[in-house]
Amino acid sequence: MAGCSTWKKKGHIYGRNTNPTVEVFEEKIRLLEGAEAATSAATGMGIISSTLFALLAPGKRVVSAKDTYGGTNVIFTEFLPKFQIGVKLCDTTDHNQIEAEIAKGCDLLYLESPTNPTTKVVHLARLSKAGKAAGAIIVVDNTFATPINQNPLELGADLVLHSATKYLGGHADALGGVICGTKELVDRIYHFREINGATLHPMAADLLLRGMKTLDLRIQRQSSNAMAVASYLESHPAIERVFYPGLSSHDGHVIAKEQMKGFGGMLSFMLKENSLQAVSRFLPRLKFAHAAANLGSVETIVGPPATTSHVECTAAERSAMGIPESLIRYSTGIEDSADLIADLKQALQSF
Ligand SMILES: *Cc1c(COP(=O)(O)O)cnc(C)c1O
Repeated sequence: MAGCSTWKKKGHIYGRNTNPTVEVFEEKIRLLEGAEAATSAATGMGIISSTLFALLAPGKRVVSAKDTYGGTNVIFTEFLPKFQIGVKLCDTTDHNQIEAEIAKGCDLLYLESPTNPTTKVVHLARLSKAGKAAGAIIVVDNTFATPINQNPLELGADLVLHSATKYLGGHADALGGVICGTKELVDRIYHFREINGATLHPMAADLLLRGMKTLDLRIQRQSSNAMAVASYLESHPAIERVFYPGLSSHDGHVIAKEQMKGFGGMLSFMLKENSLQAVSRFLPRLKFAHAAANLGSVETIVGPPATTSHVECTAAERSAMGIPESLIRYSTGIEDSADLIADLKQALQSF
């Protein structure tokens, strides 16, 4: 390292700033997303907060949707307003409303598709075009789709980010976040992250790199398992409704078919018996699914938003967000789809 600390040579001078293992991880996502540059953080929220605080300033205005990830939503509703940054959260699938809000003035357009937990789909190319016309920086959270199934930069976004904790790592054993885009934007985000200190740990980067060796295989299997499970549930008499972008009954199916290469491993469904009590009778019967708040792992994970991702909300707030009390989020793993279906079948027997 001699010479690095006096700018004579390029190199790694301090772990909070850069690390060779972390750089390999960033480079891998950069290539998968077809971007000019990439930088990472300790968690998905680490990269999302670094991005918003690096790119925004008092007087700027963000346009986004109501259905963003819970933590992101807290930044929009609690933290950005403290810095006199305007935030407008639109109905997630009301593209006309989002376009109208963008036209009123938009410095940063923040999108997510498919969303959590009802897998709503937003038209990334259409909204990116509107964002561009208004001079906005367009940021897309691509965690649910992964770079295997969707590449937002090709659809007009300026930045694409991931919670690497989910599908990229894929084994529920490491946390991480990453963002890719133009060098100019990524450098600004890196500069903020280097100072706020939310650096990705090299050992986590190593675990994420190990997981990513099977990313493509896992996503193929998780997508086909999710399709099989969603189709089975849709035909089951005890099920009220299934939300999966791969189903032709899904509101966003046509858009998903246009912008995604596969429909991913996330689905959610409602029991006919619409109560948390019914959910708490149903979930313990599942033998092949772990009850947890995480998602995107090789094992199937289930959880009701009412007690996991949206536990901070009241029942009325969840209802206003379109999240029924008996909704169950199902993150499909890589098990045999016949086993998953047999498991659901026996668990649903008395409903
Ligand atoms: C989990 C998640 C995040 C936050 O990631 P962490 O690694 O938990 O900080 C952001 N966006 C989406 C869509 C997520 O699922």
